[in-house]
Formats: sequence, structure tokens, C-alpha cells
Amino acid sequence: MIADSATEIAAARLPVRNAAAKKDRDERITVECSMAKLFATEMASRVADRAVQVLGGMGYIRNSIAECHFRDLRVYRLCERTSEIQRLVIARRLLNR
Ligand SMILES: Cc1cc2nc3c(=O)[nH]c(=O)nc-3n(C[C@H](O)[C@H](O)[C@H](O)COP(=O)(O)OP(=O)(O)OC[C@H]3O[C@@H](n4cnc5c(N)ncnc54)[C@H](O)[C@@H]3O)c2cc1C
Repeated sequence: MIADSATEIAAARLPVRNAAAKKDRDERITVECSMAKLFATEMASRVADRAVQVLGGMGYIRNSIAECHFRDLRVYRLCERTSEIQRLVIARRLLNR
């Protein structure tokens, strides 16, 4: 689980860097931002869920670090456009090509 989480965290940096590189070239990055936000926020929830699992009961205790991350990270799939809306943005661009 720790290896999976470290791998997913590393993978989430790639679309962020891709969007940043395109922005540096003054290219449009709407879809790249949607991909980066969608992947990173869903990944973060999976990682927080695994952290609770790895720590067992200690991970579930209120105000433990894992429990705080598990709870706090959930909102990022809602705020600044929900995951479903990010998927709509990405799919519409792909279908318009
Ligand atoms: C704590 C918090 C902070 C926020 N901060 C910001 C902010 O700084 N700036 C900002 O612009 N917005 C912000 N938002 C708004 C957020 O990005 C969402 O746009 C908003 O929560 C969605 O509106 P709603 O709650 O009325 O849900 P609804 O629009 O009713 O959506 C309910 C559910 O249906 C899904 N859904 C809606 N339409 C579709 C569709 N066409 N296809 C598939 N699924 C769909 C949504 O993804 C969601 O899961 C914030 C929200 C929260 C909770």
C-alpha cells in the first residue's frame, strides 16, 4: 500500500508539470488543468484511505494525522469544480477534436 501510494503521488506530478510547461509556452491548459486536478484529488483520497488502513485503529482515531487527511482531502473532489465536471471538460474537448 505504501508503494502504491508513493507511485501514485509521483504519477500525479506529471500532469501538473505538463500543464505548467504548456503555460510557460503560453498554450491553453484548460484540459491539462482538469486532468491534473481530477487525478491528483482522486489519488489523494486513495492515499489517505490507505494511510488509515495501514495504521489500523490508530488511523481511525479522531484527530490523528491520517484521519485528518482522510476527512480534509475529501473536499478537494468537490471544490473548484467537482470530479464529474472535470471529466465533462476533458471528454468534451476530446469529442470536439
Ligand atoms: C468547501 C467548498 C469550497 C468551494 N470552493 C469553491 C471555489 O472556491 N470556487 C468555486 O467556483 N466553487 C467552489 N465550490 C463549488 C464547487 O466547486 C461545486 O461547483 C459545487 O459544490 C457544486 O454545486 P452543488 O453543491 O450545488 O452541487 P450540484 O451542482 O447539485 O452537483 C451535485 C453532484 O452532481 C454532480 N453533477 C452535477 N452536474 C453533473 C453533470 N452534468 N454530470 C455529472 N455529474 C454532475 C456533481 O459533480 C456533484 O457530485 C466549493 C464547494 C465546496 C463544498
